[in-house]
Amino acid sequence: MTDGLIGVVNAGSSSLKFSIYAGDDCLLNGQVDGIGVRPAAKARTGAGEALPPPDLSAAPPATPADALVALMPWLQEWLAGRRLSAIGHRVVHGGPNHAAPARVTPAMLDELEAFVPLAPLHQPHNLAPIRAALARNPGLPQVACFDTAFHRTIPEVAQVFALPWEMAERGIRRYGFHGLSYEYIASVLPRAAPEIAAGRVVVAHLGNGASLCAMRAGRSMATTMGFSALDGLPMGTRCGQLDPAVVLHLMTTEGMDAEAVEALLYRKSGMLGLSGVSSDFRDLLASEKPRARFAIEVFVHQVARNVASLAGAMGGLDGLVFTAGVGENAVAIREAVCRACGWMGVELDEAANAARGKRISTPGSRVGVHVIPTDENLMIARHTRALVR
Ligand code: AMP
Repeated sequence: MTDGLIGVVNAGSSSLKFSIYAGDDCLLNGQVDGIGVRPAAKARTGAGEALPPPDLSAAPPATPADALVALMPWLQEWLAGRRLSAIGHRVVHGGPNHAAPARVTPAMLDELEAFVPLAPLHQPHNLAPIRAALARNPGLPQVACFDTAFHRTIPEVAQVFALPWEMAERGIRRYGFHGLSYEYIASVLPRAAPEIAAGRVVVAHLGNGASLCAMRAGRSMATTMGFSALDGLPMGTRCGQLDPAVVLHLMTTEGMDAEAVEALLYRKSGMLGLSGVSSDFRDLLASEKPRARFAIEVFVHQVARNVASLAGAMGGLDGLVFTAGVGENAVAIREAVCRACGWMGVELDEAANAARGKRISTPGSRVGVHVIPTDENLMIARHTRALVR
């Protein structure tokens, strides 16, 4: 018998985050950072109290998959005889057909490997821990929850690029990301913001990665990220939308190779590249440097402009929701975005915004504006439980 505990794993290139859930309650949260360089683990109870972390010094893990295996004895001890029913994994890419989470089999892992070329920086790190967990414990269900799945309701006209048609058939199309965050927001919207839940809502997931999703009655209709998580809004270190001719220019005229362009666009651009100060919005907001302020202005300009673009895709705007690190916390950025969206009927209640209220638009605002904390891990836990029930 199991007592229904669900593990959640979110593996990146040099980090692995893990959680344990009982129902919707998070019992444990932890992460291993610096994998491959100097791995260090930390862990907290769901209530936020620090726990003595796993000691990884005897055999420092070189990959996120190694880290998951290295954590197992510590997790067994923490579980103290209780058992996991399943582990849910965040997987960045589900390709064009996965519109829902799926229980992983070895054959399915091979299918998901085919999407590695579409997300080379994320997909291999997402899949390797699943393989490791399956190999060690074939009886424990592993569930893949895709960041692309929520966007499979986007109409075909909004999914294709205007490239030769065969390219769309080869998988070169818009997929969209941050889907687990948007799905969570869609799931709580009827309770958190009933007056807009059935309408046309733009959700702004503004964190280190940032994107917008146009939702009509809780279903994705369009989104700013496309083929990769590089498109759309400028982010901490990613450039966002870019004229593709810039890439051609960098390669042909400036002699950069693909690796150098990739490093530039993914790791040296965005807020970091513009400001020369930091990729972190807290640092930028605290900085006196003109370029730090300018970087924030560029960000706000692009967010507001893209809110309008997505409102255009839905034929209007009834609601705007802010979420993720910047959206949930940065009062000044919410204020600037709302001001720039005033012409669409957004009327900010400044006092509610400053007081970190849940609804931050005036009672008379044509567009209802809300701040809703996201919870991607809880979404993964819910999906995983539902699939193995
Ligand atoms: P996320 O990727 O959702 O964890 O968001 C990370 C981003 O949120 C970082 O750029 C942080 O600087 C930003 N952030 C977190 N807390 C605050 C805050 N209180 N004010 C402004 N930005 C914040």
